[in-house]
Amino acid sequence: MAGTRRARAAGPGLFPSDEPERTPDVGVLRVASVALNRPVRREFTYLIPDALAERVVPGVRVAVDFGGLRELGVVVQVGGESDVPRAKLKPLAKLLDAEPLVSRELVGLARWIATEYACSWGEALAAILPAGLKSEAGHRRVTTIRLAENVGARELAELETTQPKQHRVLRTLMELGGAIELRDLCRQLNLSDAPARTLAKNGLVVIERVEAARDALEFAKSGRTRPERLTERQRVAVEALHGALAAREHKGFLLEGVTGSGKTEVYLEAIERALELGRSSIVLVPEIALTPQTVGWFRSRFERVAVLHSRMTDLQRLDMWLSIAHGGPMVVVGARSAIFAPVSDLGVVVVDEEHEPSFKQGSTPRYHARDVALERARLSNAVCVLGSATPSLETWCAAREGKLGHLRLPERAGGKPLPPVEVLDLKSERLASTPSRLFSVRLIEQLRAVLDRKEQAILFLNRRGFSPVLWCSGCKETVRCKRCDVTLVFHRRIQRLVCHLCCEELPAVQSCPTCTKPALRYLSAGAERIEQELVERFEGARVQRMDSDTMRRREDYERVLDAFGRGEIDVLVGTQMIAKGLDFPRVTLVGIVSADSALYLPDFRASERTFQLIAQVAGRAGRGELAGRIVVQTHSPQHSAIVRASHHDFEGFAKAESELRAELGYPPYGRLMRVFFEDPSEPKVVQAARTFADALRARVTDPTTALLGPAPAPIAMARGRFRHHLLIKTPRVGSAFAAVRELAIELAEQAAAPRPTLDVDPVSLL
Ligand code: ADP
Ligand code: ZN
Repeated sequence: MAGTRRARAAGPGLFPSDEPERTPDVGVLRVASVALNRPVRREFTYLIPDALAERVVPGVRVAVDFGGLRELGVVVQVGGESDVPRAKLKPLAKLLDAEPLVSRELVGLARWIATEYACSWGEALAAILPAGLKSEAGHRRVTTIRLAENVGARELAELETTQPKQHRVLRTLMELGGAIELRDLCRQLNLSDAPARTLAKNGLVVIERVEAARDALEFAKSGRTRPERLTERQRVAVEALHGALAAREHKGFLLEGVTGSGKTEVYLEAIERALELGRSSIVLVPEIALTPQTVGWFRSRFERVAVLHSRMTDLQRLDMWLSIAHGGPMVVVGARSAIFAPVSDLGVVVVDEEHEPSFKQGSTPRYHARDVALERARLSNAVCVLGSATPSLETWCAAREGKLGHLRLPERAGGKPLPPVEVLDLKSERLASTPSRLFSVRLIEQLRAVLDRKEQAILFLNRRGFSPVLWCSGCKETVRCKRCDVTLVFHRRIQRLVCHLCCEELPAVQSCPTCTKPALRYLSAGAERIEQELVERFEGARVQRMDSDTMRRREDYERVLDAFGRGEIDVLVGTQMIAKGLDFPRVTLVGIVSADSALYLPDFRASERTFQLIAQVAGRAGRGELAGRIVVQTHSPQHSAIVRASHHDFEGFAKAESELRAELGYPPYGRLMRVFFEDPSEPKVVQAARTFADALRARVTDPTTALLGPAPAPIAMARGRFRHHLLIKTPRVGSAFAAVRELAIELAEQAAAPRPTLDVDPVSLL
């Protein structure tokens, strides 16, 4: 069918050529490079059948034969030549799209991700495409699970000893009192769907396929009124963004603004101008902040707002993706992966709370959405705004070095002051007589005052459960998970000891499992204990806990926030779920029950995380007419992160911290790559890590590259698998990092099992 091609070349189908068909000579073969979703960092070459010649262009999906299997791939390049002999080339089996599904820009972005984060082009493309486009089948229905009628405590008790997994499923459903998506339940309980299916077979639960519920986010609107006029600082920021937009210039900005300073208003103004210019915008927010309230801010201002989030079914996601791709200028709001939204003519990318670790993806491709946002903006000549009250040191340093424009909003809009922060030393404060020993008399007094004034309070403690440590005063041992290197946490309501890593659990015990003495002590406290102690102390107060144990469904979370907003709850107690973005004007006290949980993590970012946490939680108070105050309880009142956070001194903290980092060569002054090994056999994992490290050491010649380890990871075992890692550290500037990354990839591809996982610019070292 070579003639077809010629005819088309002469004019698209209008003047069929009457030239005789010719077989092309060897040498003018048309081949396509296809990226497949496989962990091999190369593309595969296929012959383009002549019939398809005109239509196979970069960005279309194709089906190919790969080792006898039919695989879906994306064409990333169309070329005239191949070094593979013709006889060995297979033709593309099928062309799946009439026009490119992945724009040139997104194909380019995928390549950048593959290079930057040490994965294959196909793996990067798989992250970009919505699930519905990666396979043939898509569906609008979801599988839900609920308790069957007349199933109760008796049925539950029967399963307790014989079928612990089914017991967990049934108990959770009883607590839930309603249906939940099966995949969510399984993910939360860290189980396959087998126990649930067995329960269904035995008539204890009902599993059914139902139409996906319409999402609250779809209708979200909130009456956010445009302020009469921008503050002077907002105006300066908006002008800078408008200027870059007008010039169609690629530019990145850090918008550093304290909580409540009106950053959102700046985003809205930039997006508005982009729309006037016929250009689209993408707004990334942390998943937890993707609430109807947040989405509503954008909806109340703009006509065409699309939302992308993890709760959608594959088909909903696909529909949304296609409507974005063909929808002209619009605003897309979403979590991490919304950075891949196929909008036309991107003008503005916003990354709100850019310091959030959740912007880094925890599985391959391990990209950081903030860095992808900067690159995507570059490819589209768009403006990228990174907003935060507590920028990551990476972003802050880039702004100081002039790589990003630095816009500042140092004061709250409307001139309200930032709330005063009181630091209480748990070592010297008088403690209230609560068993947890985590309430100072001072904090209790302040809570009492808030309740008397009929205002609201938020108490933050970043730990789930009742008691995180069970300690035997006889043998001095703690009770630990058998499969993970962590202590078991006592959950009181369900009377179980739960491993927060693998989710396995045991019945609560009185005597020590190690020495059998009845000498177990339930030490310290998690959110559940704090909730209980509050209820006991403040009779009549309406206390609600908000953590992943009580908020298993997104609806639960939204329902509680609504109730809190209507004043039906007095005190909200919770984990990091309540640290983000909440804006309730009647909250006048925010207590951080213990600021120490992040402080002593074996991670060089521990101080930074602690500072961010205090600043973010503190940002929840005094947002309305009423003045607010913050109480921070800690055993380390002198720690610089806590002292600086209590003075709202981000600048001072960032300067001191960045000096430390520079000394140690850590990010942002150095670059890190983590090489991670995991296996049920300890000797195997030790051997694999050592072999890899030795091979790498033998080949690294650059003296500025440091190889640290291999060593057991801080969490040395999880889910019965031993964990070892190796850290590679190089200066940020220069080519050392790229060189050692290439070496690591090469060695990883050759490695025998257990093969390493490569994590470029890791955000967690646990
Ligand atoms: P941030 O995103 O920085 O935390 P927001 O954009 O949510 O802050 O603004 C905080 C509050 O200040 C909101 O209630 C908003 O309506 C109000 N606000 C923002 N800009 C102005 C302004 N120029 N004048 C008066 N109020 C403003
Ligand atoms: Zn465990």
